Amino acid sequence: MEDAPRYQGLRRRLVEQLRQKGIQNPAVLRAIEKVPRHLFVEPAFREHAYEDKALPLIADQTISQPYTVAYQTELLDLRPGHKVLEIGTGSGYQTAILCEMGAEVYSVELERRLYMRAKSLLEKLGYRVHLRCGDGRLGWPTYAPFDRILLTAGAEKVPEPLFRQLKEGGLLVAPVAKLTHHVMMVYRKAGENLVAEEKGLFRFVPLRSASDG
Ligand code: SAH
Repeated sequence: MEDAPRYQGLRRRLVEQLRQKGIQNPAVLRAIEKVPRHLFVEPAFREHAYEDKALPLIADQTISQPYTVAYQTELLDLRPGHKVLEIGTGSGYQTAILCEMGAEVYSVELERRLYMRAKSLLEKLGYRVHLRCGDGRLGWPTYAPFDRILLTAGAEKVPEPLFRQLKEGGLLVAPVAKLTHHVMMVYRKAGENLVAEEKGLFRFVPLRSASDG
């Protein structure tokens, strides 16, 4: 699929911006430099793909801002071979970033049209991922437990099944509603306990149920 020196140059510039905004993990920056975000955005927004902005997708959803993707990925503290569950595949961009980090990725998307598109694009680009169309609030019990779980939609509260599907010592990163924004939460599972840490404030599209319409 088309990449071009011009896009590669724009990606290097984006990486520089993310570094200035505080992203430090070299593996995360390398992944951002590698994944062709212009193929994940809607064609009408292709020229804006390497601006640090969220952009509209079909079905009233958005592809997260590159800074947010980098921030969440950094918080996941990934090691190659980690089994990662992502809730909210959307465009598949974050999914590709997780693959580039060497993770074994399982991703669930509620909206069928987004699921179909992400599946076809990720296959074309050669990413080997496990994708499912369904309600991610239930997790993916067949493949549990996971080393890491990432929510890319904002939750009122983290659904209980997701905590159950997290490995002992594992991390779950999720934007959780707080007044008008979402606070990025990192939970570590320690026996029966969850150790929670609050990070920065963001705005996400909501985590929905199939009946929300
Ligand atoms: N990582 C994606 C973010 C997309 S926005 C990207 O960068 O493109 C969040 C996504 O979560 C949307 O695609 C939305 O349809 C999906 N979503 C919302 N509620 C969901 C649920 N209960 N289960 C699975 N996916 C859900």
